[in-house]
Amino acid sequence: MAAKNFDLIVIGAGPGGYVAAIRAAQLGMNVVVIERENLGGICLNWGCIPTKAMLRSSEVFHLMHRAKEFGLSVDKVSYDLDAVVKRSRGVAKQMEGGVKHLLKKNKVTVIMGEATIPAKGKVSVKTDAGTEELTAKNIVLATGARARNLPGLEADGERVWSYRHALVPPHMPKKLLVIGSGAIGIEFASFYNTLGAETTVVEVMDRVLPVEDAEISAFAKKQFVKQGMTIMEKATVKQLDRAKDKVTAHIESGGKVEKREFDTVISAVGIVGNVEGLGLEALGVKIDRTHVVTDEYCRTGVEGLYAIGDIAGAPWLAHKASHEGVMVAELIAGKHAHPVKPESIAGCTYCHPQVASVGYTEAKAKELGYTVKVGKFPFIGNGKAVALGEPEGLIKTVFDAKTGELLGAHMVGAEVTELIQGYVIGRQLETTEEDLMNTVFPHPTLSEMMHESVLDAYDRVIHM
Ligand SMILES: Cc1cc2nc3c(=O)[nH]c(=O)nc-3n(C[C@H](O)[C@H](O)[C@H](O)COP(=O)(O)OP(=O)(O)OC[C@H]3O[C@@H](n4cnc5c(N)ncnc54)[C@H](O)[C@@H]3O)c2cc1C
Repeated sequence: MAAKNFDLIVIGAGPGGYVAAIRAAQLGMNVVVIERENLGGICLNWGCIPTKAMLRSSEVFHLMHRAKEFGLSVDKVSYDLDAVVKRSRGVAKQMEGGVKHLLKKNKVTVIMGEATIPAKGKVSVKTDAGTEELTAKNIVLATGARARNLPGLEADGERVWSYRHALVPPHMPKKLLVIGSGAIGIEFASFYNTLGAETTVVEVMDRVLPVEDAEISAFAKKQFVKQGMTIMEKATVKQLDRAKDKVTAHIESGGKVEKREFDTVISAVGIVGNVEGLGLEALGVKIDRTHVVTDEYCRTGVEGLYAIGDIAGAPWLAHKASHEGVMVAELIAGKHAHPVKPESIAGCTYCHPQVASVGYTEAKAKELGYTVKVGKFPFIGNGKAVALGEPEGLIKTVFDAKTGELLGAHMVGAEVTELIQGYVIGRQLETTEEDLMNTVFPHPTLSEMMHESVLDAYDRVIHM
């Protein structure tokens, strides 16, 4: 059978791939997207969305326990883990259906199967019905990533889980060890701890959420400890001894190794790019460890072959993948393309309390040679936060003292994952302290704290 020809072949239908396909179709291209598992990729099916659905359940559960504070009463607060998981899976399914609809609406051809690239401009797809051969001048690789398995700490789906197992848990952990305190690890720690699991988090770096500003990490840690978590920093899990009902972890800390028992372990030690089995080596694509090396326009160096999203490296975030998808589609269409500026990509963690940031931390800004002005504002000084019963939190802003450029913003507290976008827009528009100070923020809102933090950096804070 003759190969089918398209203007663009996209491999992988995650937030990188499906968004690239839709934008390319909007620009008039004849596009095919190939997916071996679920439309929407990890994000919609095993990442961003189902975790947020689970965390919403634990948040409501937490609030139900606080009912009395709000003048309410609830008899016997309890949960049904199967029902929590069922809701989360339902939300993921609904989102997957949404992507299917959007691709159809934009006339993107979808082929469910496993793709390889036998030669430049050619893609071979293994489907249930056989093999399909496709050709296109341009190919976008958007095959994403999977959980990293460290030797000895491999997930087995029984007592040791990856994020996939933790989203469809075979049992409710009673004594849980979470290895790694990045966004994925800390979100699961937060979920299971709130539902009552005795939770220990082990982090190899000197603080939890190690990519965040040190003050924000410290603030978040204090809250986690208050909620009953045990946090072990500068500690390493060396070995896991697995038995039928328990796992004994050998944890090294301060030069000593101690053994601790858990009934469940979640391994959240990072991700690796899906670079294997595609034929990339034969094409001459450069791979650095498990990520395809690209330039800022996501070009791989092989003519007509682009890599976007998680397979193209950090930051491993859905919105970065989608932005690259749009950028590549526009580049191929000959439009003016806007590469990702990593320091303008916000990171959000939906633990309790939430954490969100954009740009440089105070330490990084100083390391880069900036003289900084730093502003801070606590949630306790904000009427809306107190009215919501969420007085614990902090908003910190970092400015270049010379130019007034907003270098970074760092937040911990209720709904900060929604608030951060205000600062992202500020950075995109290259605003200075002057613009931010002269902006009128609605009252009463949590966003007023964003204003106050800026005012504080310039010794003009009002409510503190
Ligand atoms: C538990 C968890 C929570 C997360 N939470 C957040 C969050 O809150 N916010 C955020 O921004 N990010 C979050 N992430 C990260 C986010 O999911 C990823 O950054 C995002 O999914 C990357 O998108 P992508 O399109 O590059 O790849 P993916 O979403 O991984 O999609 C790649 C797709 O390619 C398919 N594929 C791979 N190889 C082939 C092949 N050979 N042929 C055909 N198809 C193939 C895969 O099946 C997959 O569907 C989370 C991740 C996890 C694991």
